[in-house]
Amino acid sequence: MVYGQIPDSDAQDVALAVTAAQQAFPTWSKTDPAQRSRLLMAIARGIEERFEELAQAESRDSGKPLSLARRMDITRARDNFEFFAAAALQFASESHNQPGFINYTLRQPIGVVGCISPWNLPLYLFTWKIAPALAAGNCVIAKPSEVTPVTASILAEICISAGLPDGVLNILHGTGPNCGAEIVKHPIIKAVSFTGSTRAGREIASVAAPMFKKLSLELGGKNPVVIFADCDYEEMLNTTVRSSFTNQGQICLCGSRIYVERPLYNRFREDFVARVQQLKVGDPAASDTQIGAVVSEAHYNKILSYIALAKEEGGTVLCGGHPVKMEGERANGWYIAPTVIDGLSPICRTNQEEIFGPVVSIQPFDSEEEAVTLANNTDYGLAAVIWTNHLTRAHRLGEQLQSGIVWINCWLERDLRTPFGGVKSSGVGREGGWEALRFFTEPKNICVKL
Ligand code: NAD
Repeated sequence: MVYGQIPDSDAQDVALAVTAAQQAFPTWSKTDPAQRSRLLMAIARGIEERFEELAQAESRDSGKPLSLARRMDITRARDNFEFFAAAALQFASESHNQPGFINYTLRQPIGVVGCISPWNLPLYLFTWKIAPALAAGNCVIAKPSEVTPVTASILAEICISAGLPDGVLNILHGTGPNCGAEIVKHPIIKAVSFTGSTRAGREIASVAAPMFKKLSLELGGKNPVVIFADCDYEEMLNTTVRSSFTNQGQICLCGSRIYVERPLYNRFREDFVARVQQLKVGDPAASDTQIGAVVSEAHYNKILSYIALAKEEGGTVLCGGHPVKMEGERANGWYIAPTVIDGLSPICRTNQEEIFGPVVSIQPFDSEEEAVTLANNTDYGLAAVIWTNHLTRAHRLGEQLQSGIVWINCWLERDLRTPFGGVKSSGVGREGGWEALRFFTEPKNICVKL
């Protein structure tokens, strides 16, 4: 059902937005950080005032449970503005003394920067980029995913109401190849912060790198969950259900390859499958729904094709593996039963490629060394989870896993001050806290003879 339309902005629209941003930059970049902070805080209040409307829009646009949109997406969008409003007041730079000279570093805003975000956490990730870019004094050209544009559109209204000056934030709608690509190649845009697929990240890097643009790329993942027999079993089980299927598995941080120490394997398989089968797939608007719809028909087909591939590759589907048909208004939605597969080789495509849906594989391991090898055996390196009560082993694995984030005995605990990002094909650069403010500023060393 069509319930709204957005423009597919092109090079001309990008050029107009860049001109507006360039005109706004001299004043905005020199605005007292306290004033920038007040404006970001006003945007956070604006999100709060329209909280329910935003949550409904996010759920409707993406198919995610409304309860999740409230608890996670919109809450975090508000928090992103609050966090960087506070950070704008605290951001400082270093100075270095040597005999006869003093060096200090100026951290200057870059100018006009581009922010491009995906559909899985639409407002959450959009604001995660925009807030630090503005806090640091840049003017921003921002494009949400064309698949989930509605909350970005509401954010534009909120920013106007909050009193953000014209040209400081320019939200453009459109597709990746048209609008996104034009943002990346525009010569005035000196930095691009991108979250999305590794495929698009590679394309963006190939255009931006020869232009010597600053790039932050937050890309795909194929995250391991490593479970040792000495873990707190119930907590591990509950959290592993969440880390597998929250947002229909469409969070870049979801664990999709679950490795279980052999003595625990059979018990885990039985209990995990039983819990997963209890998850309620249903109308995103219903309060008891735990699994909503996946985001689009194309993505639905992609996920089902991976389930078919897993069977060809010798996997056994222990539960799920099929679409779920709804009744009434939701009859044409894209619902897939949460799926657990075992019996796959660690190097098969199902275990190597990002599916980004409600599909996980499980397999046993026999030693710590094998667990590390299995966990690292992928092109990706975004997040990993370790479950163990063995203190030194936990730290040892934390050090050895090739991953930007390692959670030990927890998942998705996010302190916004910590560095966020991936290694290998999961990306380049870090977001969060000072890392984000450093990305959105250019350091300049000034050396003074005393
Ligand atoms: P996508 O790469 O298709 O699109 C992301 C955004 O980039 C969209 O706004 C799209 O319009 C734009 N885009 C696409 N091609 C472009 C190009 N050539 N030039 C400029 N812009 C372009 O990704 P998606 O399907 O929207 O999102 C899912 C992917 O995002 C998954 O791979 C997931 O792992 C990843 N993701 C990563 C993180 C992280 O923090 N690492 C977070 C969320 C999602």
